[in-house]
Amino acid sequence: MADLDLSEMKMFAKWHATRDLVNNREFWNDCVSAYLDKCVTLPMYDEPAEREAVLKLVRCPPGQCGACCAYEKVAVTLAEYDTLVKNTNQAVSSFSDNNGNIFLDCKNGCQFLKSNICTVYSFRPSVCRAFPIVEPKEAVNQDGARLKQIQVRLKCAAAVEAVRAVFIKVCSTGKVMLLPDLSLIPEYENGKGALGAI
Ligand code: SF4
Ligand code: SF4
Repeated sequence: MADLDLSEMKMFAKWHATRDLVNNREFWNDCVSAYLDKCVTLPMYDEPAEREAVLKLVRCPPGQCGACCAYEKVAVTLAEYDTLVKNTNQAVSSFSDNNGNIFLDCKNGCQFLKSNICTVYSFRPSVCRAFPIVEPKEAVNQDGARLKQIQVRLKCAAAVEAVRAVFIKVCSTGKVMLLPDLSLIPEYENGKGALGAI
């Protein structure tokens, strides 16, 4: 098991002996604060259709949050940058790193966020479209094949709810069970699971 920080240790201390976490509302309420701004890997390949399915589960309330627009920078492609310049007719605050990657400079907040609403929503950068899905998690399966799994940043309750919905579906197969760090383990054949052994 990976090193646990304080909030994760608290989650294990509170929930390690509890079965059926996935249907426990109090557990998910705890997750909103314990895992805020951390990433969780979903048991899904990072493919367009799978990403789309996850994004449909994110019930983002328009104009009420904007927390994911509060990062200091947003990566954009050159085409996305040009689109922003062309369609907003304003100077776009940006910078490039040593590798030529372009970023919106959002140190003072994204210039396109007004009253918590994205004013360039229909042509916002792909990173914004994908959120809360972030860069995929690389893994190696039992056959040694490399694969990429969807990773979600738990920036908000809406992202936690989407993750919860995925895990409810996956755990309903009865083949895996959820651990308090939001990872999955195979169910023991006797049906008792492994939580009691941690
Ligand atoms: S942090 Fe979540 S709820 Fe808030 S604006 Fe972003 S996606 Fe929506
Ligand atoms: S472009 Fe829109 S969605 Fe992206 S960070 Fe700015 S306000 Fe948020």
